[in-house]
Parts: sequence; C-alpha cells; structure tokens
Amino acid sequence: MVSGLGVIRGHMVTMRRFLLTFWRDIRQGKGLSRRGGGHLLVDLFRKPARGDEPRVQQDFKTDGLFTVEYPDERLPVYERFRVLPMLVYDTEDGNVRCTSCNICAKVCPPQCIWMTQAKSPKGTVVPLPEDFYIDMDVCMNCGLCSEYCPFDAIKMDHNFELSNYERHQTHIFSLQDLLVSSEFYAKTHPEAWNSADEVAERGKVAKKKDQRLQKALAGSKTAAAPAKPVPQPARA
Ligand code: SF4
Ligand code: SF4
Repeated sequence: MVSGLGVIRGHMVTMRRFLLTFWRDIRQGKGLSRRGGGHLLVDLFRKPARGDEPRVQQDFKTDGLFTVEYPDERLPVYERFRVLPMLVYDTEDGNVRCTSCNICAKVCPPQCIWMTQAKSPKGTVVPLPEDFYIDMDVCMNCGLCSEYCPFDAIKMDHNFELSNYERHQTHIFSLQDLLVSSEFYAKTHPEAWNSADEVAERGKVAKKKDQRLQKALAGSKTAAAPAKPVPQPARA
C-alpha cells in the first residue's frame, strides 16, 4: 500500500507548481501575454527582423517557471560575444573600410581568411578588396583579425544561427555575406562604437584611407577601361 506513495507525492508537487504558474500570471495580470512581446496572433507566424526579436532575461525578481521560447524569444547576448567576423562599410558614403592590406589574414591562427586586392584599369593596386573570403568551419572565433585591423574594418558579429544543410559552398563566406553597415555595427555594439578609442580611431582611419585612395586613383587617371563595380553590401 505504502509503495508508490512517493511517486504520487512527486506528481502532486509538479502539479502544484504547474497550476501555481497559471495562478501567478493571472494575478499579475499577465493573462496570455508573452513576456518578450509579440502578443498578436499574427506574431505566431511572423518572424521578426534580425536583432528585433523579443529578448528576455531571468533576474532576481523572476517568479515561477522561466522558459525562453526560443526562437521566438531569446536571451540577450553580451556586446563582446563574438562568432564570425564581419566587414564594415560606412553607411554615409557606402565606402568599404577594408583596404585589403592582408594583415588580418596573416594574424589569423587557423589561416581561414583569404582575399585579393582590387586593381585599377591601369593595373595599379587600389586599396579595396576585390574578393574576401572566410571559411566559417575553420574560424575559431578568436577575434584576432578584429584586434589587429589597422582600418577598423573587421569586427566580430553576434550571429550564431549559421547552421544549414550544405557543408561546402555556403560555409565559405564571401565579401557579400560579410559586409554590414556601420549603422548595424553601432546598433549591435553601442558601447564600443561610442568609446573614446573608437571615435578617435574612426577619424584617423577615414583620413588615412582617403589619402591612400586618392593616391591610388591619381595613378590611374588616364585609364580607359571601366572600373570593376564596387561590391554592394548584402546586409543593411
Ligand atoms: S579587414 Fe582590416 S586587416 Fe583585414 S585586409 Fe581589410 S583592412 Fe586589412
Ligand atoms: S576570428 Fe580568429 S580564426 Fe576567425 S577569422 Fe578572425 S583571426 Fe581567424
């Protein structure tokens, strides 16, 4: 008779907690609302834009069960959280900051970056990347490329949802995949963007890059053939 009572008691505890969760929500006026937002029925079928997903965080005030309804909700990531590198272009003028100096490729420990430098129609080098690739399967997310870049052009992205069903071509990220606007970077890394170091660095880099570009273009003024189109960003 006595055997099995423990199991029943355990179920009763679980049931009590289950019912209390509803009761607390109703008492606090939460009803059917979702913690992270998106209360409309249509929100169940609408995927929010990247970065706009409702974010929830457990803190000392959290009461009852805490479940993150991923992917509709997600935990916030810290600003310094890093996955793959991204290449920044300036929102104001569309200029790709990278000068194809190759420093990031040299310092990359597993050697997963490679690029080619753009050439003017005359054959002189132009401080822009023509191609830029990163093998995401090899990248170990160390962030050294970003630390060493003298042009503030390569930063670490937060996007960790990179899995897919193809393991070859789509795992090589090209220039188009890597480009993001400075506006996007400022939104995802507000502390770094507003830091005194980065503000000063941006001023220096803009000047340095402009001088190099002017020098390179001066060497190709008499060119006749049309220039190769500047790569367009894949992400805004
Ligand atoms: S990302 Fe920076 S370090 Fe890498 S090639 Fe471009 S400018 Fe040089
Ligand atoms: S994060 Fe590290 S491993 Fe990845 S590309 Fe940059 S330097 Fe290479």
